[in-house]
Amino acid sequence: MVLATTVLCAQAPERLERLRGKTILLFTPHPDDDTFCCAGTLSLLAKNGNNVRIVIYTNDDKGSYDPDMTSEHLAKIRMHEEEEACRILGIPKDHISWLEYHDGMLEYANTRDLVEEVTKIIRKVRPDAVLSIDPGSEYVRWHKTDHRMAANNTLDAIRAAEWHLYFPNQRLHEGLEPFIVPQEFYYYVTDKDANQWVNIDSVVEKKLDAAMAHVSQWEPSIHKYRPDWDKADLEKTKAEMRDQIPKKDGHYVEAFRTTAGFNPARRNTFR
Ligand SMILES: [Zn+2]
Repeated sequence: MVLATTVLCAQAPERLERLRGKTILLFTPHPDDDTFCCAGTLSLLAKNGNNVRIVIYTNDDKGSYDPDMTSEHLAKIRMHEEEEACRILGIPKDHISWLEYHDGMLEYANTRDLVEEVTKIIRKVRPDAVLSIDPGSEYVRWHKTDHRMAANNTLDAIRAAEWHLYFPNQRLHEGLEPFIVPQEFYYYVTDKDANQWVNIDSVVEKKLDAAMAHVSQWEPSIHKYRPDWDKADLEKTKAEMRDQIPKKDGHYVEAFRTTAGFNPARRNTFR
């Protein structure tokens, strides 16, 4: 038994792009972070027969400089854009769940309710892997409110999901058993935190197309909303984004920090 545990712990983490027929659960603060961080990887995961599920914390209803824009309209626009981006990546819209917190307000939600809500999702979906924004990266730690909160909340929910004494009502009333997430992949990592890079050469055009589906997140639509692209703007923006996609050893990549967990029970049952 001791030997078996040692062998299991010594195994290298599973590589994300090699997953087949698994359930993948991705949490994103806004309906575009999943595209910008991971669209290539998501496209590969969908192509490889995985059940990809996306949970979006906020409705992203604030980020517009257009004086004629309203929060209600923007939330609808962002939802439509996310569905289109996911369609391009091979993820159906009924695989997207919206928690519908207002943009920028996640940190002011009831934190106990928030972690309970996400714990419930994890216990229901019972994913083989969770993708979430990295709580350890300097960028998310200091830059943006919803990013900080989503990062920490998802991690806290992963921990709570495995212990039956956290939110025992979920087991008593809904039959949701505790669940140990086998592996986590964190995105928006700093260079020093990354320990896994997915080669997205074969799907880089899909990533660009999915990113361009978020029309309202780019100029000129941020200042004056229009639902479509002027052809010249589209080509220019796409080319600029292509130049900015990180490369490793000459290949387009998406970077992750992966871990099998932070407590002994989870480490010993890894894979
Ligand atoms: Zn974001």
